[in-house]
Amino acid sequence: MEPSKVDPRGEQAVFVDYHTHHERCGHAQGSMEAMIKAAIELGMDQIGLSDHSPFFCDENDHPNPGMTMAKSDFPNYVQEMIELRNEYKGRIDVRLGVESDYLPGLMEQYALIYAQYPLDYIIGSVHYFRGYHVFASERWRQENVDVDGTYVDYIRLIQDAARCGKFDILGHIDAVKGLNVPCSISLDTLWDETAQIIADAGIAVEINTSGLRKKCGSWFPSADIVQRLHRLGVPFTFGSDAHGPDQLLHDWSGVTGFLKEIGVKEIATFKRRERIMLPL
Ligand SMILES: [Zn+2]
Ligand SMILES: [Zn+2]
Repeated sequence: MEPSKVDPRGEQAVFVDYHTHHERCGHAQGSMEAMIKAAIELGMDQIGLSDHSPFFCDENDHPNPGMTMAKSDFPNYVQEMIELRNEYKGRIDVRLGVESDYLPGLMEQYALIYAQYPLDYIIGSVHYFRGYHVFASERWRQENVDVDGTYVDYIRLIQDAARCGKFDILGHIDAVKGLNVPCSISLDTLWDETAQIIADAGIAVEINTSGLRKKCGSWFPSADIVQRLHRLGVPFTFGSDAHGPDQLLHDWSGVTGFLKEIGVKEIATFKRRERIMLPL
């Protein structure tokens, strides 16, 4: 990939990636520093670090080591990000983030914890619902699995995540399609309604390219949903959802090319929970 640094209007274009993970979560590769070094190598302006939130709601400190860090590791995570940001100042802007689970009824509790740290942004993602992780293949292997109901439930949770007001970015909003199990009903009306809820909530949406690495083989969300959101003025940011430095900026050119084509002129970036729009 050889993206051009100067856009057609002659303005300096930015390269940003706001969704990255590292080994701390137990299922990603490499350190945060390795991610930052790779970002510098790619000529990026900003790198957002956004590892998975701990299960703050669980009574155990580290209930699921393969999914996310221990609760007690969260302060270390933030401290390490701060140190790296200082160390690499002048070479790249390191932004401090977290990919938070959206769990109904628990977000007030989570928000109180996040407020204790100098985070630049919080991605809100629905991972767990109806008893499984969104990307767990077991879900779809259950007898009499209600595929359509699962899609509808997921999208309704995305609506709730938008409405809860605790996040800056909504993560992979149609990830329920990830394993490519087809839904038999039209979701058009539901997506129209969802796009309106997201627009009213004033939250940004990431174009998450990890779907390209899954069975569905397309972005989260799909291009038609991106267009729906754009018509309502929803701001976008970019997230490769990299689980290793080699996945950084995955399909950046494809995403930004499409965004420019449909008339998107700016990309959302975040500092101390404030959204800053930069020319795309
Ligand atoms: Zn992950
Ligand atoms: Zn996620």
